[in-house]
Order: sequence, then C-alpha cells, then structure tokens
Amino acid sequence: MLVLLRQIVQDVGAAPTFGEALRLIVREVRAALNTEVCSVYLKAPGRNQYLFAANEGLNPELVGRATLEDGAGLVSLVGRRAEPINLEDASLHPRYFHMPEIGEEPFNAFLGVPIIHHRQVLGVLVVQHREKRRFDESEEAFLVTLSAQLAAVIARAEAVGEMDSLFDADYPKENLKIPGLAGAPGVALGVGVVMHPTTSLDSVRDAPAENLTVELMTFDRAVATVRGDLRRISEQFAQSLPREELALFDAYLHMLDDDAIAGDVRQRIRRGEWAQGALKNVIREHVRRFQQMEDTYLRERGTDVEDLGLRVLACLQDIRTHKVHFPKDTILVGEEITFSMLTGIPAGQLRGLVSKRGAVNSHVAILAHALGVPAVMGAVDLPLHQLDGEALIVDGHYGEVYANPSAKLKAEYQAVIDEEVEFAEELDELRNLPCVTLDGWRVLLWVNIGLPGDISRSLDRGAEGIGLFRTEVPFMTQDRFPSEEEQRSLYREHMEAFEPRPVTMRTLDIGGDKALPYFPISEDNPFLGWRGIRVTLDHPEIFLVQARAMLRANSGLQGVLRIMLPMISSMFEVEEAKKLVQQAYREVVEEGFKVKAPLIGVMVEVPSAVYQARELARQVDFLAVGSNDLTQYMLAVDRNNPRVAELYRDVHPAVLRALREVARHAHAEKTDVGICGELAGTPAGAVLLMAMGYQVLSMNATNLPKVKWLLRSIKRAAARRMLARVLRMETAEEIHRYMEGELIAAGLGRLVPSHHEKP
Ligand code: PEP
Ligand code: MG
Repeated sequence: MLVLLRQIVQDVGAAPTFGEALRLIVREVRAALNTEVCSVYLKAPGRNQYLFAANEGLNPELVGRATLEDGAGLVSLVGRRAEPINLEDASLHPRYFHMPEIGEEPFNAFLGVPIIHHRQVLGVLVVQHREKRRFDESEEAFLVTLSAQLAAVIARAEAVGEMDSLFDADYPKENLKIPGLAGAPGVALGVGVVMHPTTSLDSVRDAPAENLTVELMTFDRAVATVRGDLRRISEQFAQSLPREELALFDAYLHMLDDDAIAGDVRQRIRRGEWAQGALKNVIREHVRRFQQMEDTYLRERGTDVEDLGLRVLACLQDIRTHKVHFPKDTILVGEEITFSMLTGIPAGQLRGLVSKRGAVNSHVAILAHALGVPAVMGAVDLPLHQLDGEALIVDGHYGEVYANPSAKLKAEYQAVIDEEVEFAEELDELRNLPCVTLDGWRVLLWVNIGLPGDISRSLDRGAEGIGLFRTEVPFMTQDRFPSEEEQRSLYREHMEAFEPRPVTMRTLDIGGDKALPYFPISEDNPFLGWRGIRVTLDHPEIFLVQARAMLRANSGLQGVLRIMLPMISSMFEVEEAKKLVQQAYREVVEEGFKVKAPLIGVMVEVPSAVYQARELARQVDFLAVGSNDLTQYMLAVDRNNPRVAELYRDVHPAVLRALREVARHAHAEKTDVGICGELAGTPAGAVLLMAMGYQVLSMNATNLPKVKWLLRSIKRAAARRMLARVLRMETAEEIHRYMEGELIAAGLGRLVPSHHEKP
C-alpha cells in the first residue's frame, strides 16, 4: 500500500497541469482499489457548489460541467462533516441525491473522503462500486491517507488560480494572483520579460581535447571576454549600487582567477579534456560543494558559480547574448533569475523581478533590495509560459505577483507607488533629526547589521548606532573560523564607519538554523540544543579570539563597544562569559593596545531570562530583547516553519506582557534596555515598546526612517494609553486590529499595509 501511495503522490506531483493531475488521481486510485468508479469533486472557490472535476467510470461528458449544490447529496455531506462516509448502499441514505445524467445508478457502495488543507475542505474524493458491500478498513484508510497528501496539490492549484480554469469558461482571467516570498520591498507595475539561461551546462558533452594549445587559448579568450563584461557592468552600476554590493563583481572576477575556477579548468584541459567539458565539470564540482552546505545563504551561492560558468560557456560556444527587447518598465521573470540577467538590463529599465527559485537570502534578492527594485522570490507556482509580454504587478511587501491586472487594480497599485515615492522623499528629510515624540520622549534608533552593504544603507537612513551586529554572518561565508586579525579588520571597518556612535557586537550566535559549513552541528532539536552562548562557552578559544578582535577593533575610537551575549538562559552563563571578556581585556591591555573596557549586555531571548530579568539586569550594563527568538520560545512555534507560521504572533498578549516585565525589571535596576528583534521595526511594535520605556529600538535599515516618522508623529502619553488597552486584550488578532485602527485614526495609515485596498 505504501509503495502505491507514494507512487500516486509522486505521479500527481509531476503532472504538467492541474487537469492532468486530477485525471491521474482518479485513474490511479481506481486501479489501486480495484473499484469501478473514482471521482474528484472540488469545491468552487467563493461558490456554494461542488464541481464534478475528474472521473473514471461515469459519464465522461459531464466532467468539468456538472455541479452539485453544497447541501445536497452525499458528497456535500462528506464535506460538511469533514469526515469519511462509507456506505454499503448509497441509495438508502436519506441524503442520497440522484443526478441521472452522471450515470451512477448501478453503483451501490459509496466511500467519500474529504480533501482538507489547513482546516478547509477543498473537495471530496469518492470511490463507488456495484457490489453492495462496505469498503473495508484498509481501503478507507488508504483513501484518507492519500487525500491528506493530495490536499496540498489542490491547495496550490487554488492559490495560483488554476482551479478557476476548471470552473470558468473565461479563464485565464484578470488579476491572476501568484504567491511567493517577499524578496525585496516595494511595488512595481510593468511588463513581464521571461528570461531563460542562454545555454546549458547539461548540454555539454564530455570529450577529449583534440589540440591542447587551441583549447587552452580558446578558454583564455573566453575568460578575458567575461572579465571585460564584468568590469563594464560594474562600471555601469557604479553609481546606483553601494560599494559593498559592487564588491560582488570583484568576487566574480576572483572566481576567474588562476587559483580558483579558471585554474581548475586549465588543469583539466591539460589532462586532456576539451575546454567546454572541463568547464562543465569544474562548475558542477563547485556548485555541488555549495549545495551540500547546510547554510541557506551559502547554498544559494552555488547559483552565482553556475551563472559565471554559463557566461564563460556562452563565450566558448561563441553565443552572443540573445538580444532581448527590454521595455522601459521591465519585470524580469524566470525559473531562476541570475546575476547576469539582472545586470544585463539597461539602466533605469528594470522595475521588478520575479523568480521561481531562491529566497530572501539569494544574492539577487539582496541586489534587488540594494537597487530599490521590488522582488518576489520562491514563486514556485509561477506559470512562466503565460507571463512573457504580460502586464504584471510585483508586490514585494506581500510577496505576490498579479498577472493581467484589471485597470482598477493597476490604478490602486499605481496609487501605492505614488504614495511610496512621496513618502520616501519626505522621510529623507528626517535623516538628521532625532527620534523624539511630540511630547519630548527620546528614543534611540539603531540598526541590525551583518550583510555586506548594510553600512552605507544604515548611515544613509540616519542610524544612530549599531544595536546588533550579527557576527555569525561573516563566519558563515568562510571555509574556516576567521582569524583574530580578519575579524578585527572587519569589525574595525564598521566601527570606523559608525564612529563615534555606539556599536553592539553580538558574540557568535550559531546553532539552531545557523550552521557553519566547517563546524557542523547535528541535533534532533537544534533550537533547543547547542546554540549561541552554549557553543562559545564550551569553546572558550573561539569566544576569546572574538572578544579580543572586538576590543582591538575598538582601540583608539570614541564609539562605545557593547558586547552582547546571545541565548542566555542561566546566570552562570553570564558570569562565565563576563570572566572571558575580562580575560581578553586584560590580555589586550597587557599587549599594549589602548582599549576601553566594553559594556557587557545580555540578550533576553528565552522565557527563563524574562523571569530572571531582574538578576540579569543587576549583572550587566544593558539588556536587549531578541524578540524573534523570545516569541518562538514563548509560543513554542518554530520561527522558520511555514506550517505553523500563523501561530507565530509577535503581538501575542503573552509576548507583550513578557516584554513589559523585562522593561520594568531593567528600569528598577537602572539598566539600559533595548530590543533588536523584528518587532522593533513594525509600527505597532515600535509604539508599544516606546510606551514600555525601551530606550533603544534596533531594526533593519529599511524600516528605520518609517519608525522615526511614526514616533515623531505621536505622543508618548497616547502610546501609553494604547499599551494599557492592549495589555488587557486576550488575543494577538484583537491587538493587531486595535493597533492598526489606532494608527489609521491618528493619521498614520501610510504605515499600515492593509490600509491600502488589497484585492
Ligand atoms: C532575535 O532573536 O530577536 C534576534 C535579534 O536574534 P536573531 O534574529 O539573530 O536570532
Ligand atoms: Mg536570536
């Protein structure tokens, strides 16, 4: 049974269209259960009807045409009860409903199971046969199991509007919504240009080199051409991209060096392979190495290598880049948008991008962000063949794409764009103003930093300090622990750029979902395992090197160095970590460096730290709440698991009460208290945290100007009234709605995405 089940699910998953998937289901289920009839009835989105969507064994002419009103017949009873109905003789059941044209009279036995996804009944799977006998337990169990797995396929079809094609003669329709991930914020209207890689590595055959010298020369020429192209593109983007992003081109150029990819290819050619084959094999090896890495950021770097390989291959094959016409409002669409595709578009003509693959961490998304171009990544259901030349809307806030938008939808989104442009211009004027409420309450707005490019983005937006330097990010992009000097120089670059502002350096926070490729940690429950401070206390040599690098980087600067400890769950961890920082401090002073003693702080990220906030506050110079993790641990919801994403609510009453407690304890001990989780950058979060007395709100640079505008537009007294109301509420939903209403009523609706009319 298990083999059969797997086979059906696999076949259905691989079906080219939704219609074909449905036909496969009925055909294979009928064969698997050796029954006479199998049908799928689907609930029409937004209608009280079931459609006779697929069938084997009844009148084929009515497939896709016959409908059943919800409330009539056994099918809808299965849907309403949300459980199987197994009958020896269906016609005896009081809810039996006879549809003569379908031709089911001869079939007596009936088994219907609901198809349910995320608590919603999407349809009913039915098997029938002539013989008057109940389907046996194993048959019922088989159908229930299968239906639970098929539900995801049907839900996906519904999500991208394919279900409508079964119900609607006018399909494809307007405003076809395609869901994805919010890759880079913003909204764009434009015309889709579907790009495919110009050539493919897979098509290259393995063959011996006929003439080694010729192969080597051809390869060298191709590399030189690609180098020239990269330099030209880099110059073209020199004005529009920050310095750190431009460094990506250098990374590409380095990959073409003799001690990297180019060297490896030459070696293979010298061993007798022809240039194209050698290139293919070297690129594959490198890509494979990246793909095996656990870290998603690094895994996605494999795409960069492949992209580079394709560029060289195109030159080897003398394929000039296929001339594509780019309209002035191009929305780049592809299975995988590569760096070359993005940079191959004439300046000023790219409005947005949509990629089937990739995620928020993909370099393309990072680049799009830096270029101010909205991006939707991971749009797995993207119907590529339908989108070339189509009018599209890219909503990078919500991670959604609309194809063939109506005039009304376009006008709505155009209004959002106009508003965003106007708003950004206004916000720019606030850059050098302090964040003070209308009644004079000062809040410090700092940034969370870690990715290349963050320095200029943060300073451009008026950041007053670094509230969280995620030091693990540079550790993740290496193939070994970075040396003390490498760390010092990177930290110094940030500290100098921010001088004389304070800089908060978090000690290495690996484990959980953050793995180092060269230091694998394999655990059943990584979020409850060897994470953050637990790792570095067990490896004082790693902790000490990092603390020394932080102290030395700060040498001679005025900016205050704040060392922050992640994942603290017990007092002894603070004591041990403080001892190590003191040891590092003594060492660097003895070595003659002019360093100031750093401030030491603790992240409040787990419930035990909330309950011991008072004792912790006594022990350290500052507390900083990591609300991303605190929410995850308080609500027992994995922050990375999309299946429970709806339960992850940062304004959950329990979380807000915990946050208020932490602030109270810190205030009682006169210890500085801040927050560096995502909540600080949301409108509701910023208002409530300010009301609780959080002195530092640290967030990503993109949100900072908006939060400044928000807090400068309200009174703390009003925020405290909102907080008092919120703390009496029982659900996150209620709090969310109330805060949105208050912001809109206070004339701050521009910050509430749902305030914009959404289709
Ligand atoms: C947090 O947990 O809120 C936090 C800021 O740390 P990270 O997101 O890096 O885990
Ligand atoms: Mg954290």
